[in-house]
Amino acid sequence: MKTAFIVSTGTELLLGTTIDTNSIFLSKRLTELGIKVQGKIVVGDDSRDIKCAFETGLASADMVISSGGLGPTNDDLTKDMACEVMNCQAVLAAEELERIKDYFSKRGRPMPESNVKQAMFPPEAVILRNERGTAPGMYLKKDTRLVVLLPGPPHEMKSMYLKEVEPRLVAEFGLEETGYVSRIIKVFGPGESQLEVILGELMEKQQGYSMALTAKSGEIHIGIQVYGEDIRERQHKLEEITRKVRGKLGNNIFGVDEDTMLEITASSLKRQGKKIALAESCTGGLLAKMLTDLPGSSDYFWGGVTSYTNAAKQLLLGVKEETLNKYGAVSFETAEEMARGLVNIAGTDVGVSITGIAGPSGGSDDKPVGLVYIGVLCNGSYTVKELRFGGQRDMIRALAARTALDMVRRRLKAEEE
Ligand code: ATP
Ligand code: MG
Repeated sequence: MKTAFIVSTGTELLLGTTIDTNSIFLSKRLTELGIKVQGKIVVGDDSRDIKCAFETGLASADMVISSGGLGPTNDDLTKDMACEVMNCQAVLAAEELERIKDYFSKRGRPMPESNVKQAMFPPEAVILRNERGTAPGMYLKKDTRLVVLLPGPPHEMKSMYLKEVEPRLVAEFGLEETGYVSRIIKVFGPGESQLEVILGELMEKQQGYSMALTAKSGEIHIGIQVYGEDIRERQHKLEEITRKVRGKLGNNIFGVDEDTMLEITASSLKRQGKKIALAESCTGGLLAKMLTDLPGSSDYFWGGVTSYTNAAKQLLLGVKEETLNKYGAVSFETAEEMARGLVNIAGTDVGVSITGIAGPSGGSDDKPVGLVYIGVLCNGSYTVKELRFGGQRDMIRALAARTALDMVRRRLKAEEE
């Protein structure tokens, strides 16, 4: 089995300001291709560190694939270091220089002198086209060693890898292709059978691909696998199916593959600079627990109130006694007063209230076990949902917490649209 080592360069990756998603993408693709990822290193824009990373990689694997540092500035050092490690001399590639000049002239600007550097390559190298930026990549095979350099911006890196690198790796190593590409599209909201109806013909007429649903604690995962000889065609088809599924499901989709509802919601809160507070009754702090499962949650999580008894709802949230007597603790009215009272106290952008009957006792004909009200107050506008969950106490509580999270996710998404 062929092995690869991934090197991600960029000081921002070490400062924690940028997440190294490039290596995640590469790990996944290489693994699917049947190449074992032996290890990976993240280094800053420092020539010694980059060189050391390439040497380490080549000492333990058949190839090193790097991303970042192909730009024109002084801190873009990857190519120089790769050439040194591979014992190659970069010379000016006239055609490449023309292409870069052309890129600038099309945008009505002269090419800065520093960009000449991007047209320097060893004669042994294959220059990889960058359709989405100026920095070309490099595929350099010498003796038994191979280094592949990709640009840092994720969309440039991905498109170059898929178009220029993967087919070369397959040809170079005569890789036995796994024969499929796959993706999981994650949905919250519609049930399994409802989804089947919505997806309709997409699920029925499966030509060259398969689509299957898996239910997972309130979420439905749509697993798609596309088969076929040609890698590019498979990828293209997968994108096409994904587009169709998105068209049918819209905001019911919260993520793909490794995404989790929690992380998606947390990153929206962070991106929008919003803080959230919780008033939980029947979930007893479960949602607060979930939110704080993520490190760094204090960036967006103000805190929560476990207002379990009527007394706590009155004392901590200012729910009126009259409301509790007239409509009960599990009602539209109480949910709303909980959310409004909470935001009054916490002063957050988002306030969530959950009140319901988790069972097994406490239900009535009127208000059965599993009845839950969830209120979300976001920037002064309030939405509430009445839900009827089935299952045992644990299940009801878990579904209530997840549904609340999903309501917040949808609200935040709407704010971004
Ligand atoms: P450029 O010509 O844009 O300078 P480059 O190849 O030199 O391209 P970098 O300067 O290293 O690339 O990175 C450009 C941007 O790409 C960074 O600001 C960062 O946001 C993103 N980026 C770089 N490396 C990664 C990575 N490993 N994972 C995710 N994003 C990354
Ligand atoms: Mg750069």
